[in-house]
Amino acid sequence: MPKSKIILTGDRPTGRLHVGHYVGSLKRRVELQNSGEFDKIFIMIADAQALTDNADNPEKVRQNIIEVALDYLACGIDPEKSNILIQSQIPELTELTFYYMNLVTVSRLQRNPTVKSEIQMRNFEASIPVGFFCYPISQAADITAFKATTVPVGEDQMPMLEQTKEIVHKFNSVYGETLVDPAILLPDNEACLRLPGTDGKAKMSKTLGNCIYLSDSAEDVKKKVMSMFTDPNHLRVEDPGNVDGNPVFIYLDAFSKPEQFARYLPEYQNLDELKDHYKRGGLGDVKVKKFLNKVLEEELAPIRERRKELEKDIPAIYDILKKGTAAAKEVAEQTLSEVKAAMKINYFEDQALISEQAERFAAD
Ligand code: ATP
Ligand code: MG
Repeated sequence: MPKSKIILTGDRPTGRLHVGHYVGSLKRRVELQNSGEFDKIFIMIADAQALTDNADNPEKVRQNIIEVALDYLACGIDPEKSNILIQSQIPELTELTFYYMNLVTVSRLQRNPTVKSEIQMRNFEASIPVGFFCYPISQAADITAFKATTVPVGEDQMPMLEQTKEIVHKFNSVYGETLVDPAILLPDNEACLRLPGTDGKAKMSKTLGNCIYLSDSAEDVKKKVMSMFTDPNHLRVEDPGNVDGNPVFIYLDAFSKPEQFARYLPEYQNLDELKDHYKRGGLGDVKVKKFLNKVLEEELAPIRERRKELEKDIPAIYDILKKGTAAAKEVAEQTLSEVKAAMKINYFEDQALISEQAERFAAD
């Protein structure tokens, strides 16, 4: 029998989802879901992970679960095809994390570049919560609990996948072949690996507040686009401009389609021609930004409308989450029982252990 193809991916409910999440992972999930190539799809709202750096603000996490769920459904995640689950409601994930902790060293966690930069961003240097420090281990638990073969995520997740693979190899070599080795699936489009913020910072991030949210109104998107950071040396229209590292052009790389030039900017055949003109000089930022705004609107308007519809029945969304979580819990229970058997901590289920000891004590 060929191995099942299983997807696990997710997001932290620390805010509404932004276009970085969308191009980095969410859009791909919907395509993979609709390809019909996967046997099971698990999409996790990682509330337990969100609490690792929001322990003093549980209300934020609680309120954002519904926001993330609405964003998922608005983007086309179909609960008939994908299980949307809430991490904290599956205690098996926490239990796996605890056992995997024995397979990872403190120095290995300290080397994780994503965690390093996140610690800096949060000013945690002097006092890192242990839970936050260990979240890469909890991600390994999430991925392996569902026996995921494929993890579609943005580039910042690469170190997490490496850590997961190390745990899988270590576990399987110590306790016998049990866990499935997952593969990361990064976006094909380079601009989508790590979408920069509207302020030009390397990553669009809720924490940095430089985001265009999927649920932003058309007016808000326009305002954000028109005030976006561009090439700071491109002062006058005649000046030659730089497109590399210029977020306006990176967003066009991520979102624009060739046919949109005929529709909105017929004087250019494609993005390369637009970039060439900018580099030569004579093309103003306002014109490029207006085009970008139209491109984004084409993508975001249908998502925004679907979200408005979904918002009318919140109890139905919780029902979807409850069902998705229950289905996911069954799979995690099965994996945990295999893990415990492999680790020899299944005393009550292991009849052979009991009878063998009974015989030994009787013989003594
Ligand atoms: P933020 O950093 O904005 O607070 P986050 O890092 O908490 O958001 P996660 O929930 O950790 O968001 O990430 C969810 C998914 O979105 C991951 O697959 C991550 O790689 C992807 N992602 C997040 N931000 C970006 C981005 N700017 N560009 C591409 N992918 C991104
Ligand atoms: Mg993150």
